[in-house]
Amino acid sequence: MPVARSEFPKTADAVVVGGGTIGGWCAYFLAKAGLRDVVVIEKDRLGQGASSRAAGIVRSQGGTRWAVDLAEWSRAFYLSQRDELGVDSGFTAQGYFLPCFTAADVAAAESRMAMQREAGLAVEWLDSDEADRRNPTMRPGATLGGTFFAGDGYITPPRNVLAYAVALAQAGVAVREGVRFTGLAAAGGRVTGVETSAGAITTERVVLTGGPTLAAVGALAGINIPVGGVRHQVAVTEPHPEFEPSRLPMVFDLVAGLYWRPEERGLLFGMSNPDEPPGKAREIDYAYLDKVRQRLAELVPASDGLGLRRTWAATIDFTPDHLPILGPAITADGVLAGVTVAAPGGHGMMWGPGVARAAADLALGGTTTVTDTTDLGLDRFDADGNSRLDADPIALPFPERTASR
Ligand SMILES: Cc1cc2nc3c(=O)[nH]c(=O)nc-3n(C[C@H](O)[C@H](O)[C@H](O)COP(=O)(O)OP(=O)(O)OC[C@H]3O[C@@H](n4cnc5c(N)ncnc54)[C@H](O)[C@@H]3O)c2cc1C
Repeated sequence: MPVARSEFPKTADAVVVGGGTIGGWCAYFLAKAGLRDVVVIEKDRLGQGASSRAAGIVRSQGGTRWAVDLAEWSRAFYLSQRDELGVDSGFTAQGYFLPCFTAADVAAAESRMAMQREAGLAVEWLDSDEADRRNPTMRPGATLGGTFFAGDGYITPPRNVLAYAVALAQAGVAVREGVRFTGLAAAGGRVTGVETSAGAITTERVVLTGGPTLAAVGALAGINIPVGGVRHQVAVTEPHPEFEPSRLPMVFDLVAGLYWRPEERGLLFGMSNPDEPPGKAREIDYAYLDKVRQRLAELVPASDGLGLRRTWAATIDFTPDHLPILGPAITADGVLAGVTVAAPGGHGMMWGPGVARAAADLALGGTTTVTDTTDLGLDRFDADGNSRLDADPIALPFPERTASR
């Protein structure tokens, strides 16, 4: 029986820690799979972590098979939401262009495209002229061409929070906001419950999420999780006739760590400073914003000198190899059965539903068909947080080390 809304649940079939996009959708998938008593505990309010502050980019043009699989699963989910839930995350298929500026970029794009096509993605190569034709807002001749996938797009992050809040309510999940996870109870190598600021919950199944603060969540349970947080900035220009959405595919200037897309007839652009030290975002770095605007103006002349109607800085999560973490919890005593760790590695809009569904599958039966998670667990990291996997090459230039190391 779902617990009364006013009561604090004493037992649950599953407890999900964190009410961001990963925890929110994961709890929904657990309930949809048939669990009756699913509880989400969120120390603040649903979506008040990274999930409401993202830029919303959804890109299937990933640098690894995991990235393609997770994004494709998520994209299909976004497209199915209205039929399934009656609400949606606002997914808009805008098309995404990843330009090449050097011969080395072209070679990397060609091998990436081969992997993506093998995975079933209808990614196209646009030569320089075709790229200029499809994106008249970019300075002609600026690129050597690049890859393009028409299915890539963006969601509206606050609308996504609304969508999973509705989904959780519809599925009868007990959401407890303002409740802090404080630790796990275990016996014989298995989890037996969670401890929270509002009391204990007996359960055999726990999913730990936490976005940029997941390392701290793990530390409360003796689990070393190498996830960091770092400042990430987004800005939206005033409207301009050049930025009519039909003539403005999204663009990712990978080397500059700069991406943009249409927003409210202006340009939304996001940026990641590779020299930014890990830590919580407290304010906007205007010097870096100005530097990035120069690069943007070189590539998109109409953006030069435009007013900004919104700017924000928020803390984005990252993993040392830019890949998600999906697997069992590991403590000093080994695997802690019944606890699944889920981190989207800074890609929670593009991979979020896929990561959430894979985490729910792992929590329920130990396997998933979303993507091959064999190598994505915590056991890929050494004690210093170094991963034995190659980093996903199509990621923002986050710091390579997490804050705790
Ligand atoms: C500015 C910015 C732009 C971004 N743009 C994009 C983008 O365009 N595309 C993309 O794919 N990704 C983007 N991201 C990344 C994406 O937002 C994140 O990867 C994603 O939101 C992480 O989701 P999450 O559920 O893991 O974490 P969060 O949304 O941070 O949720 C974790 C939750 O756990 C809660 N919590 C923490 N500790 C506890 C505790 N002890 N007890 C209970 N609850 C706890 C927190 O309060 C929080 O609500 C962006 C991020 C930022 C900041």
